[in-house]
Amino acid sequence: MAAKLQAPRGTFDVLPEDGQRRRELYRRAGSVLGRYGYRPFETPVIEDTDLFARGVGESTDIVRKEMFTFEDRGGRSLTLRPEGTAGVARAYVEHGMHKLPQPVKLWYWGPFFRHERAQAGRYRQFAQVGTEALGSDDPSLDAESILLLAELLEAAGVHEVRLRLASLGSLEARAAYLDKLRGYLREHEGELSEDVQGRIDANPLRAFDADHPGTRAVMAGAPRLLDNLSGDDAEHFAEVRALLDGAGVSYDVDPTLVRGLDYYTRTVFEFESGRLGAQSGVGGGGRYDGLVEQLGGPATPGVGWAAGIERILLASDSELGGFPRPVYVAVADDGGRREAFALATALREAGIRTELEQAGRSLKGQLKHADRLGAKAVAIVGEGIEWKDMGTGEQRSVTNAQEAVRIAVGLEP
Ligand code: ATP
Ligand code: MG
Repeated sequence: MAAKLQAPRGTFDVLPEDGQRRRELYRRAGSVLGRYGYRPFETPVIEDTDLFARGVGESTDIVRKEMFTFEDRGGRSLTLRPEGTAGVARAYVEHGMHKLPQPVKLWYWGPFFRHERAQAGRYRQFAQVGTEALGSDDPSLDAESILLLAELLEAAGVHEVRLRLASLGSLEARAAYLDKLRGYLREHEGELSEDVQGRIDANPLRAFDADHPGTRAVMAGAPRLLDNLSGDDAEHFAEVRALLDGAGVSYDVDPTLVRGLDYYTRTVFEFESGRLGAQSGVGGGGRYDGLVEQLGGPATPGVGWAAGIERILLASDSELGGFPRPVYVAVADDGGRREAFALATALREAGIRTELEQAGRSLKGQLKHADRLGAKAVAIVGEGIEWKDMGTGEQRSVTNAQEAVRIAVGLEP
């Protein structure tokens, strides 16, 4: 026998039950996003490697350890996108979207790739839904983004949600704080993990995110960015919080919140769900006022988030079903096959989900199969058409296909 093949490590097949839940989530997400005025947007799955090196940041885990990077046949270095914002910012510049009325509000849904240790809720190919609002630094956009994700999670049936919120300040104001933090980390260098030690210069904020016990102990006493914001940044953050308070969104201000991407400025946030184990993050984002400029565009503020589809589905207690019960068309004897096919087609054209016998079952086998499919009615095609309502058990003869369709249309879903 030929050796069996398997899906690559960290990837998965979406089986039909899951496919249905994903579709339903997509539908609900689209409905929430549309209400907030965000428009659907897509970028390629492959981008120049340089986009992520510059856009996500050389010192981030994503760029250092997690990217699928390869050379194409022309010797160019390409990368399977590990996140969505860099690509959207690139497209914004490439299409001159700064000339459109601002802010430009976009949303996306699609596959992303990170070379990580695969486990429940953490894959090498996963899907994200995300938004970006570019071209304005108004705090209402920060609040709106957060509200939007909160509403989407609610529509998806994700409960036990906790929102953590912080501000990283603007890039210039942050520089002074980072020097202060570097000084503190150097004083305690011996107590830190090697990983954190190696990044004191490049990315000292990551030390707040470490699991290493020694590092955590040191960080408990570290100077905090939130206590070192400039006047403008503090005011911006206060306004975001006031808008969220007004909207009834509860959150914890968490001065230790850092995000895994270099481009964030000012507002950052993360949603977690108690339904998830160790991989508790469902989605997160923040403001990135320097990113577009860093990618060669005009100075353009922006704010957005991304949420993991698989984690939303893991944390959701909603059925996200929505697949209607079918009408089943059975054949009493082989002679009725063409009539049965025609009736099934007529039912489908009338908008009814219809299944029909296609595997050579006996009539008894067909009725059993209809039951398994949860059919709400069975039409048995033989000499005429026998209509059996599976809810009431009532059975009657119908004169022709049109009448059968009329009855089917009138049934409860
Ligand atoms: P984590 O801390 O779990 O590694 P992250 O900070 O790297 O998450 P983001 O870059 O903020 O995640 O991505 C947004 C969301 O995408 C996450 O909250 C999560 O739901 C999802 N996500 C990120 N990486 C993966 C992955 N490898 N597999 C599945 N979902 C993921
Ligand atoms: Mg990660």
